[in-house]
Amino acid sequence: MTPRSLRRFDSILPGGRHVQLSALDPAARAGRTIFGNRVVEAGQPERLLKRGHHSRKIGDVVQKGKWRGMPIFTLTLEERATCPRTCKQWLGCYGNSMNWAERLVHGPELEARLWRELGSLQSRNPGGFVVRLHVLGDFYSLAYVSFWQQALDCYPALRVFGYTAHDPAHGIGAALKDMADTEWERFALRFSGWGLAERGAEVFAHEPPADAIPCPAQTGATDCCATCALCWATTRPIAFRRH
Ligand code: SF4
Repeated sequence: MTPRSLRRFDSILPGGRHVQLSALDPAARAGRTIFGNRVVEAGQPERLLKRGHHSRKIGDVVQKGKWRGMPIFTLTLEERATCPRTCKQWLGCYGNSMNWAERLVHGPELEARLWRELGSLQSRNPGGFVVRLHVLGDFYSLAYVSFWQQALDCYPALRVFGYTAHDPAHGIGAALKDMADTEWERFALRFSGWGLAERGAEVFAHEPPADAIPCPAQTGATDCCATCALCWATTRPIAFRRH
């Protein structure tokens, strides 16, 4: 890590090129990652929530804004296996070029261990800590959405930011929309690809949508999320250039 940087990597760009799967690809059809050897049981790693400086564009500790001073942690699940089939990036998911990322198996074991880790982070960081959901993957059930609501209720230091591909008008997406609307100060979740004027996130290939703010870490205007803080500071849509 360079002295001025809060992340281990010099570039925020993923290591690989954009990989677009065929709709006939076995992983796309089955709803799995193409890197099956990087899927690990939730009991296996030393910890589930990783420090943000291990991620290319997250960073270690928030440097500005209302969450300043809070350490950032990330959670990575298996792309497609936990995502809605309606995701607009189903075939072109940036996980297709993340061959190094460790994906956690989702389910009861993950949630039980996650609950304990959140409790431990609450004890060690009573002034606040941030969890980025999800580096890969998505909210896979209504029960898992409730898990995060209960975590917000039980662990007052917890802050969350992230993105979901779920439809904000239905099912899991509607439950998440309720949480984001009512708990935005601690649960800054954005809806990807739904054209929302508030709390949206869009992926673009050439020009960002006119009303969206291009992610400053991608334009080079800032180092990483820890030095940016925009995703939880504004409700305006954020636009991400396709990797
Ligand atoms: S806009 Fe800022 S906070 Fe959001 S993803 Fe980009 S760098 Fe991170």
